[in-house]
Amino acid sequence: MLQLTDIHAYYGHVHALKGVTLKVPEGAIVSLLGANGAGKTTTLNTISRLIQPRKGKYEMAGESMMKKSTSQVVKSGIIHCPENRRVFPLLTVEENLLIGAYSRKDKQVKSDMEKVFAYFPRLKERTSQKAGTLSGGEQQMLAIGRSLMGKPKVLLLDEPSLGIAPLLVKEIFEIIKSINKDGTSILLVEQNAHMALEISDYAYVLENGRIALSGKSKDLKNNDDVRRLYLGG
Ligand code: ATP
Repeated sequence: MLQLTDIHAYYGHVHALKGVTLKVPEGAIVSLLGANGAGKTTTLNTISRLIQPRKGKYEMAGESMMKKSTSQVVKSGIIHCPENRRVFPLLTVEENLLIGAYSRKDKQVKSDMEKVFAYFPRLKERTSQKAGTLSGGEQQMLAIGRSLMGKPKVLLLDEPSLGIAPLLVKEIFEIIKSINKDGTSILLVEQNAHMALEISDYAYVLENGRIALSGKSKDLKNNDDVRRLYLGG
């Protein structure tokens, strides 16, 4: 569904992505692993067009996204849930969720909010609470819920486990699995390689702006390099 072929991206003179090729097939969870600074966030930012790719091919459902704007990318069904949650702290849970639906013109926004609450009952109990007063894990749930309000075909998730208590991380990963089962393809960037390889179908390892390794997640779990570098031996 989503495919990058030999994508190059720069920050000024810094050549951050040096030919990234990856695909997210329909219905799959694909994880993108790599050390700090490898280019994972840059890859997601390039897909959502916060950064312009300078060279290569980028397609969503067969259509080129190379010259599209961020809002056109959103309309094609690609929704980016950024690192560090970025909820609006002074707005309520409900207001944050409505912002996720801002580009929609259909009438199913209310019923979709109920679907978000079905995934995240903790949010339903807190609809009128200011987002800034939620725990880190709850804010992450809200950020994912807000992304779901945009009706993603492909959801880009940047580090959903960052700074969250282990018990909530487990809960969030279970929910990510059900979101995928209900039909949303997912590209997951994660430092927690154990969790990412556990729930994904395919995985790519980025090193210094290049894909160093890729394959089925269950095969990568047994790969010596992946075990040594990302799974703690
Ligand atoms: P992390 O897990 O630490 O966020 P990452 O794999 O997501 O790492 P990126 O944030 O994509 O890595 O960074 C890739 C490279 O691009 C790094 O060398 C980084 O220093 C550089 N970079 C990222 N953002 C900028 C920026 N705004 N300006 C200049 N260089 C940047």
